[in-house]
Amino acid sequence: MEVIFVREATFMHKPISDHPENPYRVVKARSSLNTSGLKYRDVSIEKIDREEAIRVCFKVHSRRYVEYLLELSRKTPVLIDEDTYMSENSLDLALATMYLSYVHASNQGKVFLVSRPPGHHAGVNGRAMSAPTQGFCLLNNAAAAVHGFMETGLKRILVLDFDAHHGNGTMEIFYRDRILQVDLHQDPDTLYPHTGYPDEVGEGEGYGYKANIVLPPGSGDDVFVEVLGLISDLAEKYSPEAVVVSAGFDGFENDGLADLNLTEKSYYTLGLLVRGLNAPTLVVLEGGYGVGLQRGLVAFTRGLLGLREEYPVLNETPITQYRRTIESTRRVIDKVSSRVFPSGGKQ
Ligand SMILES: [Zn+2]
Repeated sequence: MEVIFVREATFMHKPISDHPENPYRVVKARSSLNTSGLKYRDVSIEKIDREEAIRVCFKVHSRRYVEYLLELSRKTPVLIDEDTYMSENSLDLALATMYLSYVHASNQGKVFLVSRPPGHHAGVNGRAMSAPTQGFCLLNNAAAAVHGFMETGLKRILVLDFDAHHGNGTMEIFYRDRILQVDLHQDPDTLYPHTGYPDEVGEGEGYGYKANIVLPPGSGDDVFVEVLGLISDLAEKYSPEAVVVSAGFDGFENDGLADLNLTEKSYYTLGLLVRGLNAPTLVVLEGGYGVGLQRGLVAFTRGLLGLREEYPVLNETPITQYRRTIESTRRVIDKVSSRVFPSGGKQ
């Protein structure tokens, strides 16, 4: 597994005024890896062919939406909606990030791509599944990676999204496709984009292939790790040929934008889970606005790299909440399993 930082993400796509999604996020993440002695590689987007990157966009987004973004990029700085901004070179960085996600997937690599802007709220036409805004996202990087893998002939693809917010864009894009999507997020009653309920299970070919797992505010490492055990069983049984991960670190305690209570233990376990699937993997950075970008991202990377660590459970979950969450997760996973493994065995 290789960690790749996009150099331009540390200074391009700058907000007009104070905004949680800013270049400093990647600066912080990078310096934390430095402090921890973890290896990574810097890449530059300079040589990426813009036209080729735009062609990748058309695989994921509607022509109308891509043309709208190109048009807006000539009027910067501009607000797309109350959450989402576009500065002078935002679209260049977004196009490059999407393109790199696609290319590394096409090469069947194992890559953690650390860049911005995030993408999982960007749907086919921008705002996804009736969300009020695009939630800081311009282009859907995870979806581009799915296309990259599919085009090399891989079919059994798992998308795992552990950002605290529902990955409504990615879910919308593949809602009718036979791609297993597991999205773990804070209860949509309590958080943007207010979708991702357990009964959203996909449609058509995709029916039963969408697992929306909901965590009440305040959920800690103990319940999260147990939920991951259930997801791990499902994922191993599915035995994916490729894995796409939307890695958000806003579930970390005191993030400021979400209300989960996770710490290193949870993110390390996530890293191990992804590593254990032992398939070509493209991990892309989504959210994370506080210390999770440092402590969570480092722990996750240690897990991805298979480094041995002993992180304690720092935050426990109230027992009733714990039990309810495990029960509801089991119901979601049982429903998916009955559709994905109709005979009880492998797909
Ligand atoms: Zn988020």
